[in-house]
Amino acid sequence: MSFPIQSKSAIAGRTAGRPHSCVSSVLTAAGVADSVPKEKRMAAAPFNYIDNIFIHDNPVAYRREVARYLDLIRTTGSGRTLIKFIKMSARKLLIKPYHPTQEAPVNAFASPDIPLAAYPVGAPELQAVKVGIIGGLLGVDPKAVVMLPTGNVGVGGGSPVTIDYHPATYRELIKRKRRIDPGDGPGEVLFHEMVHAMRAMFAKFSDTTVVENLHMDDFEEFCAILAQNIYRQERGFTSLRRDHWGHVRLEADLLDSGAYYEKYRPSIDKWFASQGGFCLELARSNVKFNPLREAAIAKGLMERPPPVSMRLP
Ligand SMILES: [Zn+2]
Repeated sequence: MSFPIQSKSAIAGRTAGRPHSCVSSVLTAAGVADSVPKEKRMAAAPFNYIDNIFIHDNPVAYRREVARYLDLIRTTGSGRTLIKFIKMSARKLLIKPYHPTQEAPVNAFASPDIPLAAYPVGAPELQAVKVGIIGGLLGVDPKAVVMLPTGNVGVGGGSPVTIDYHPATYRELIKRKRRIDPGDGPGEVLFHEMVHAMRAMFAKFSDTTVVENLHMDDFEEFCAILAQNIYRQERGFTSLRRDHWGHVRLEADLLDSGAYYEKYRPSIDKWFASQGGFCLELARSNVKFNPLREAAIAKGLMERPPPVSMRLP
C-alpha cells in the first residue's frame, strides 16, 4: 500500500482498537494469514462482492469468509444502511487480509488510498501526539493522545479505501480468551472499519480530539464505536463497547441513551451536522441504546418511538 504523502499521518490507519498488546502471549503473528506464499496471495484480481465493494480473492477461502461476514452485516438494518451509503459514495472499497505483527497480532484498520481526499476541502489533516508527562502534570493519563495538525489540508472528493482485516485472527482471539468482549466479534470489527471507510469515501474524515473523553482517541473512533454499538444490539448483544482503549463494557450509567447523548452531545451533534442522512437512518434503529435517536428527537427530526420490548432476542 502506498500513500501520496509520506508524513506519518494519523489517517494512515484507523484501527478497531489499540493493539492488543495483552494478547501477544496467547496469539502470535505465526499462523493465521501466512499459510499461503506471498506471491500467490498477491496474484488474483479482487472479487467484486457487491457494487463498489471488493474482497481480496486469494486464497478463495479468505474471500468466502469475508463475504460471509458481509452477508451477516447485511442481515441488520444498520448494516444495510452502512452498505447503502458505501455504495452511494461511488468510491471503491477493498477488503484484504490483515497480516499480524509481533506488536499487533490482532488488529484491523481502514486506510484511505488518497489520505487528503478523505478530508473535507481545507480541513486540517491531524496526527496523534501522546500527551505524555505534560499531560500527566495536568491530570491527564500520559498515554492519552491529542490530535494536532500535520500542516497538510484536505482536498475533498472522497477517497477509495482499503481495509486490512482477517476474521480468523478475531476468531482465534475469542477462542483463546474464551469470551467475546464488546468490539471483538469478527463481524462487528468489519462493521467498525466500514464506518471509518464510509466517512473517508465521502470526504467527511475528521479525527479531532473527543474532548468529552480522551479514551475515544478521536472523533472517527467515536463515530465507529457508537455505530458498532447499535449494530451489536441488532445482532442480539446487550453488552456495549465503552471506548477505544480496549474492549471494556460501557458503564451502567451511560447505557441510558439520554445520559450518553448528554455526555457526548458535542460529538453526536457534530456527526449529525456532517452526515445527517446516515445518522437519521441509524437513529431509526429501534434498539434499546441509541443516542442518535435521542439526538434526532431533540432536533425534531423524528418522533419518540414506542418503548422497546424487553423481550430478549
Ligand atoms: Zn476504529
